[in-house]
Amino acid sequence: MRPFIKNIGIFIGAMVLLALIANVVRTSKEEVRTVSLSELATSIQQKSVKKIEVMNSDLAITATDGKKMVSRKEVGESLPTVLRTYGVTPEQLQSVELAVVGETGWRYWVGVLVPVFGPIILIVALFYFMARQVQGANSRAMGFGQSVAKEVAADQKVKVTFADVAGMKESKEELQEVVEFLKTAEKFTGMGAKIPKGVLLMGPPGTGKTLLARAVAGEAGVPFLHMSGSEFVEMFVGVGASRVRDLFARAKKLAPAIVFIDEIDAVGRRRGSGMGGSHDEREQTLNQILVEMDGFEANSGIIVIAATNRADVLDPALLRPGRFDRRVTVTYPDINEREAILGIHAKNKPLDPEISLRNIGERTPGFTGADLANLMNEAAILAVRRVKKTIGLIEILESIDKVLLGPERRSHVFSQDEKKMTAYHEGGHALVSHLLKHTDPIRKVSIISRGHAGGYTLKMPIEDKHYHTRAEFVDDLAMALGGWAAEKLIFGDDMVSTGPSSDLRTATRIARDAVTQYGMSDALGPRTFGTREELMYVGQGMPERDYSEKTSELIDAEVSRLVKAAGDQATRLLGKHRATLDKIANELLVKETLEEKEFVELVGIEKGAETI
Ligand code: ADP
Ligand code: MG
Ligand code: ZN
Repeated sequence: MRPFIKNIGIFIGAMVLLALIANVVRTSKEEVRTVSLSELATSIQQKSVKKIEVMNSDLAITATDGKKMVSRKEVGESLPTVLRTYGVTPEQLQSVELAVVGETGWRYWVGVLVPVFGPIILIVALFYFMARQVQGANSRAMGFGQSVAKEVAADQKVKVTFADVAGMKESKEELQEVVEFLKTAEKFTGMGAKIPKGVLLMGPPGTGKTLLARAVAGEAGVPFLHMSGSEFVEMFVGVGASRVRDLFARAKKLAPAIVFIDEIDAVGRRRGSGMGGSHDEREQTLNQILVEMDGFEANSGIIVIAATNRADVLDPALLRPGRFDRRVTVTYPDINEREAILGIHAKNKPLDPEISLRNIGERTPGFTGADLANLMNEAAILAVRRVKKTIGLIEILESIDKVLLGPERRSHVFSQDEKKMTAYHEGGHALVSHLLKHTDPIRKVSIISRGHAGGYTLKMPIEDKHYHTRAEFVDDLAMALGGWAAEKLIFGDDMVSTGPSSDLRTATRIARDAVTQYGMSDALGPRTFGTREELMYVGQGMPERDYSEKTSELIDAEVSRLVKAAGDQATRLLGKHRATLDKIANELLVKETLEEKEFVELVGIEKGAETI
């Protein structure tokens, strides 16, 4: 909206200027004295007036001694009439030269036209400028791909290198080859080797795919042309394809170069996958990408890098040889990589000497590179707010929670009853989890509201985990229902709140995954149910089922059975340890937050005591 305000400003400024000009034009006369009509009348009677020029209501008076004066009369009244009222007789007036002149020349016209047409012209101009601005914003759509092409971002000089990417040793090694290709293409072509055209980076969001692609361009010292798959989706039919054409045309001019297509799954989903609706635009864009990739020579010096977190939904055509036939997987960083990533983002940040990055790495399993970058940044901001010279451990720990759970909402006011309910709810989760062996240790329990949750129970694995056992599924299920079980136990069936609704959803999902994806149900056996495609689009379009209606009923029954068993177990455990639950809830009402150590001491029971 800024340009709009600017326009208004210009408009008002112009108006003021015009008014000034009009004023000056109308009154710009030599320095003359202004006299009143009665003075004029007296002067006439004393015969000291030689000449009066009447111009509408303005009177230009020349005295007998040559001095000039001005005066004004009412419009419409003739001067002799006016003067008569001041006692000037027609005889006295006869000695004065009286001339009625019309305003002439440009001055007259400016005086007449500016007040009338000035504002109109200004308003028209204002609309014109505004219309142009709106068009500018829409030019992505209006230009039908043409003007858009000019916007394709190309970084001629990428400064990021592999040194800025922590960890990812294997990925970097694989990409090192690509760097070599770009740097010394002749060496390879001389040997008759074909340079790969496309590299697909696969991995969860925030794990550094974009960063890695940039680093390749930086290492090779080649331009980096990038665009995102999701940009195409909002466009009119045909725009995406023409944009892809322009992108590659530009790349050819800049070659050797890297073309980076982020979020390629947005356009590169399996075609005709029965998702319903028309996907013309998507398909045309995808086709154009394929055409372009086939079109350029293997040795033209362009390497296309695409990134996705959904490699499994990609159209197989994309993965054929000669296209994205090289694939690099990017995963969640392990403890060593987390330490290294923290190291990169701790640069230029003064940390307390007591802080060990290794230690922070240990506390952040499951964090992506982006999470860790975010964590360090939040800690720095906190330190600034607290007017500290260095970032302390407290800031880091608070930031971990913030990244994990969203900001605290201390302003959120709960009634005493709600607080009590939350204390028992979170206490229930934490206690059930603690009593079972195969759950992760509780790091923190709190009844401080964060994000949507009224309170939270934070558990975290001791080390990175890549697999989950069936025992873990069962125990996690019980923990997920711990809050619900506690509410039911303490406040009775009728008083269970809407609070646990997301817990119930979580529980159902865990149970469903165990049955349909991991084959952990005895009743259904070790097989998967539903294609990946269906799992991706549950609730969207037509699910692709690879099992019968009867099996579907069996799955439902099995999921219900698992959830019910877990709920029963949680209820039983909490009933048995009711006194401990009360203790936790009361402590939470006092302290609001219990750290791992406080919690363990308070409970006073060994972890996993109820699992035999
Ligand atoms: P993706 O494209 O996979 O979603 P990004 O490349 O956009 O992830 O990563 C987001 C940010 O996270 C990066 O800008 C960087 O600050 C940080 N980051 C991620 N991975 C790493 C890493 N391995 N080393 C250093 N920083 C990282
Ligand atoms: Mg990215
Ligand atoms: Zn809960």
